[in-house]
Amino acid sequence: MSQDCIFCKIVKGEIPSQKIYENKDFFAFLDIKPINKGHALIVPKVHCENILDFPKAEETDFIETIKVVAKALVKATGADGFNVGMNNGEAAGQVVLHAHMHIIPRFKGDGLHTWPHKEFSKEEMDELHRKVLNELIKE
Ligand code: 5GP
Ligand code: ZN
Repeated sequence: MSQDCIFCKIVKGEIPSQKIYENKDFFAFLDIKPINKGHALIVPKVHCENILDFPKAEETDFIETIKVVAKALVKATGADGFNVGMNNGEAAGQVVLHAHMHIIPRFKGDGLHTWPHKEFSKEEMDELHRKVLNELIKE
């Protein structure tokens, strides 16, 4: 528990939320400013900041929980699909520094657009490719 973390407070019931699901390690609730109808968040009950410090023992159950919640959201909203996404770090749009997965129901023609693509030169792509491979060789 981090003292000032709003998601820790939501998990503990100190801040009200529209809870939709809970199990041993996870808590899911509707997003207060939904991107689309049924936009929900799933958070680990234990405070961690992002996916890189997510507890190893909970990783598989996290995916299972995402599937359970996503299925229910799709049925409840009549969605045609859904996005699952996580912002890690402020530069990536993370505002609340308690790891959370967004589940966003999607509807044909709902007007939401995915990220725009960028172009990089062949040289830049090759250099980047080399650098990433180099990092992964160290793993
Ligand atoms: P982030 O940008 O950090 O990935 O997303 C944080 C999400 O949490 C946002 O979509 C925001 O609307 C949601 N949020 C922030 N504060 C609250 C809150 O107090 N209650 C609920 N239900 N959602 C919140
Ligand atoms: Zn927290």
